[in-house]
Amino acid sequence: MAASVEPARRSIRELVIQSVMSSHAQQEQRRRRRKSLSWGGGDGGGAAAVGDDGDTGFWEEEEGTMELAQIGAERTKNVLILMSDTGGGHRASAEAIRDAFRIEFGDEYRVFVKDLFMEHAGWPLNDMERSYKFMVKHVQLWKVAFHSTSPRWVHNLYLAAIAAFYAKKVEAGLKKYKPDIIISVHPLMQHIPLWVLKWQNLQKRVVFVTVITDLNTCHPTWFQTGVNRCYCPSEEVAKRASVDGLKPSQIRVFGLPIRPSFCRAVLVKEDLRKELEMDPKLPAVLLMGGGEGMGPVKKTAKALGESLFDKELGKPIGQLVVVCGRNQTLSSTLQTIQWKIPVKIEGFVTQMEKWMGACDCIITKAGPGTIAEALIRGLPIILNDFIPGQEVGNVPYVVNNGAGVFSKSSKQTASFVAQWFSPDSEELKKMSQNALKLAQPDAVFDIVKDIHELAQQEGPLSQISDSLTSSFLQPI
Ligand code: UDP
Repeated sequence: MAASVEPARRSIRELVIQSVMSSHAQQEQRRRRRKSLSWGGGDGGGAAAVGDDGDTGFWEEEEGTMELAQIGAERTKNVLILMSDTGGGHRASAEAIRDAFRIEFGDEYRVFVKDLFMEHAGWPLNDMERSYKFMVKHVQLWKVAFHSTSPRWVHNLYLAAIAAFYAKKVEAGLKKYKPDIIISVHPLMQHIPLWVLKWQNLQKRVVFVTVITDLNTCHPTWFQTGVNRCYCPSEEVAKRASVDGLKPSQIRVFGLPIRPSFCRAVLVKEDLRKELEMDPKLPAVLLMGGGEGMGPVKKTAKALGESLFDKELGKPIGQLVVVCGRNQTLSSTLQTIQWKIPVKIEGFVTQMEKWMGACDCIITKAGPGTIAEALIRGLPIILNDFIPGQEVGNVPYVVNNGAGVFSKSSKQTASFVAQWFSPDSEELKKMSQNALKLAQPDAVFDIVKDIHELAQQEGPLSQISDSLTSSFLQPI
């Protein structure tokens, strides 16, 4: 029986290995052709470093980008953050890390936020944004995809097959940015880049870390044992990382990285309302559905339009802000409605901290980014939907900690808000306090400081076992 399985297993591995070997051979040829150009300087620690064997370093080889290595710690280090616009959370976390690097370390680091697969690979890697949007709209499809790819052997096989086609292109992408540090904030962006580093013998020179952006039930592709660090936003995720083979020395729990503008800026509600042209007095609810404006936003907005209007007094008891994200259809549909209460309808906003700071509570799908931001602002949360798989666990995280409630019914959601806005209600205050207790505003700074320390250590990856790419090559 085993003999019948073996050939198929070998053929995938052979494909992967063959693909990288041929890339190596091509590089070697190019290197020889350009031998007269090669320069042997550098201290082995730089982006344009010299290889172990004295050959010109990997980062140096890209046409037209050859640079002399800057020697010593003063050299600006390149940080490449790998993300994809599948939802809004990965980009928000990537930008948070980039901004925190700037605030903490100024010019010491040059940070690139890139979708390497979009720029440097073919289908299906360069189409993840569109496929993700399609699948989460058809949630059953997403549910099947999420759960069926959870077993390690399934996603390893899938990623190894893809790597066989695109490893060389990803390698070209990495060369372009010459990173000293690679940070992945996406579940599908550890395996292939790590594998390229291994083949280029760069795993001792490039720090590779994963920053997980799901709060609880995250997909197992986040966990790759070859990383220097895996930053988990919660103890629950850290437990999963440990079960999936990461060592305690690789795991750190600081929280989800949130843009520094959320925690460092001093925002006064009255000023924000003035700036955002909102009613200065009426309590305000923020309604949104992640970066894509997903979930029952339209239905909920209509229900709030009714529940926040006091028919007896003939006047509103609250106001509504709807952030539609990239969902333009939603925003234009809502614009056509005649509202009885003050309503602001926004597309994709870039200063979310201001909109949250101007409101008194939030209704959202269970997106981890939005939840973590709302907690920092002390906003009570009504969760009205979740994406199956990665967002399921976010519901108990909020509800069991007393920071909000869950309701799939738009009418019930609207009546919760009306109750909370009644003058004698204490609910909002209590939940706001619980939200603030859960908030981890400094997580992003703790993460970048830890990465900085890693980068200071000489040969950080030397402690990592040779099984860096074991998930590709281990028996499946
Ligand atoms: N977001 C934003 N502007 C918008 C809509 C959303 O900046 O108009 C941000 C939001 O603040 C959060 C992220 O997009 O940081 C959404 O992430 P989340 O994890 O909540 O959901 P996703 O969109 O990834 O499913």
